[in-house]
Amino acid sequence: MTHAARRLALACSIVLVIPLSQARTPVASGTGGAVATISEQASQSAMAILDKGGNAIDAAVAAAATLGVTDPYSCGIGGGGFMMIYLAKDKRVIAVDHRETAPASVTPTVFQENGKDSDFDATLASGASVGVPGTVRGWHEALSRYGTMSFKQVLAPAIGVATKGFEVSDNFHRMSAENQKKLQLFSSSSALFLKNGKPLAVGTVLKNPGMAKAYRDIGAQGQKAFYQGPIARAIVDAVGKPPVAAGVRVRAGAMTMADLANYEARIRQPIKTTYRGYEVYGMPLPSSGGIAIGEALNLLEGYNLKTLPRASAEHLYMEASRLAFADRNAYLADPEYVDAPVAGLLSKDYAARRRTQMNAERAGPKVLAGDPYPFQNDPSVPQRPQAARLLADNAHTTHLTVSDKDGNVVAYTFTIESWGGSGIVVPGYGFLLNNEMTDFDFSGPHPNVPEAGKRPRSSMAPTIVLKSGKPAFTVGSPGGATIITTVLQTIVNHVDFGMPMDKAINAPRLSQRNDAATDAEPGFAGSAQALALEKLGYKWRAKAEEIGAANAIVFNADGTVTAVSEGKRHGVGSALVQKSAN
Ligand code: GLU
Repeated sequence: MTHAARRLALACSIVLVIPLSQARTPVASGTGGAVATISEQASQSAMAILDKGGNAIDAAVAAAATLGVTDPYSCGIGGGGFMMIYLAKDKRVIAVDHRETAPASVTPTVFQENGKDSDFDATLASGASVGVPGTVRGWHEALSRYGTMSFKQVLAPAIGVATKGFEVSDNFHRMSAENQKKLQLFSSSSALFLKNGKPLAVGTVLKNPGMAKAYRDIGAQGQKAFYQGPIARAIVDAVGKPPVAAGVRVRAGAMTMADLANYEARIRQPIKTTYRGYEVYGMPLPSSGGIAIGEALNLLEGYNLKTLPRASAEHLYMEASRLAFADRNAYLADPEYVDAPVAGLLSKDYAARRRTQMNAERAGPKVLAGDPYPFQNDPSVPQRPQAARLLADNAHTTHLTVSDKDGNVVAYTFTIESWGGSGIVVPGYGFLLNNEMTDFDFSGPHPNVPEAGKRPRSSMAPTIVLKSGKPAFTVGSPGGATIITTVLQTIVNHVDFGMPMDKAINAPRLSQRNDAATDAEPGFAGSAQALALEKLGYKWRAKAEEIGAANAIVFNADGTVTAVSEGKRHGVGSALVQKSAN
């Protein structure tokens, strides 16, 4: 967007969006159910379902379906995700994995051409990048096992938003502008999200009748409406013969009706680790999120962070992250295909050994993966995979969290991978298909190479933290591999530095992922905090970008709840409680 256009958009947003953002509250405390999402409409959908007597699982699906309408570039039924659920009655945490799978036609060399990795950007905007979507199946499993309402009931609010439309915000406009070239490649995508090839002006009401129809069909026929029949056929066609604009050529994928009909979600045991008296439940493989966060917390437990100067404590947080990322990159992938040394990586004894590689005074160089195999309870045949290449982290997602009056809690991260996913809107149904296959490593040998039916390794990290067996707080974020550092940093801010959750979320984010440079947000470089870290050897990546968009709920000791969303990132988030404390 040109400077003038940005100014104009800003001016329009001031006229048209201020009433909306004034209505948004990024922090809300009270009793009963609570919700935090990045979209006001999504939080309202969750509240409507809670007010009708639905539980947190029902409300989470309602919010997610609405985010599929208002935040279609981040998430939706064309993608997949991970839902973490605390069931109050059973006092247990379970994880619903509905990550996309590679179609049956995929081979380990699918992203290599003439012995080299395929071009990343060209692969991303193509049918070949699309994994078999898991979201609808995940919602089905969550609702039918742990919910109380039908698809029809929980999709109703989202159908309302898709039918009546929503105002294009400055943020939505900016994302459209950033993805304009990708959306222009596909006629169905330009027709929905652009006007004459340009982003819709701020304040335009965007209606999505195709999305409303898809939700109505799912409401009437259940998940089968998505995995068999006309929607499945439309997906297979869009992947195999992408609906390109005149003169455009992109690579096709080879997804079949059988790939869709055979898709299954998985109910998984979460990762559990302890940290300073808290029990931290994180997402297991195929997400690396829970394991990397667990390992980093184990490393940090060896230091009394709250007694250290802020820069020294932040340095240790970044070193722990560096070491955890080296291990994550080397060992983690879909557990149905790879025997990853999870127990070893999460063992406190392994952390004690690995901690000896942390220099408390100085930012370290890039490190190699450690050797967790001697710390496995059941040692598997050691493999020594090469370190993965660093993947681009400009990609995004959404995270939401809901609790209900009975104490059930949902932390849910779902995605279509990059902003705008593959860029392909499924004709007639108004949703974007993911490009999740680009989360595989393109070349091996590596545990995370593509294979038929395999789930690409993720970083998503919906996290539920208990204390003395009761929910203490929940947190999660979008942001590709920075999800791991955002969740880790927020936990450290809250638990070690004692920040209230809104301050923990709004604090400047730093992300060190075993690279020479560290990511910091715009405005951080030059600050006193940055200078103190530079003295310890930190270098900031030249291009500073906003990191993540977290949402959290804190369960206070007096029985009240505090829902917290972003105060300034990704627009302003929306936190609501059923009965306000005021
Ligand atoms: N595809 C990413 C993952 O699963 C999420 C995308 C993002 O948050 O940017 O880790």
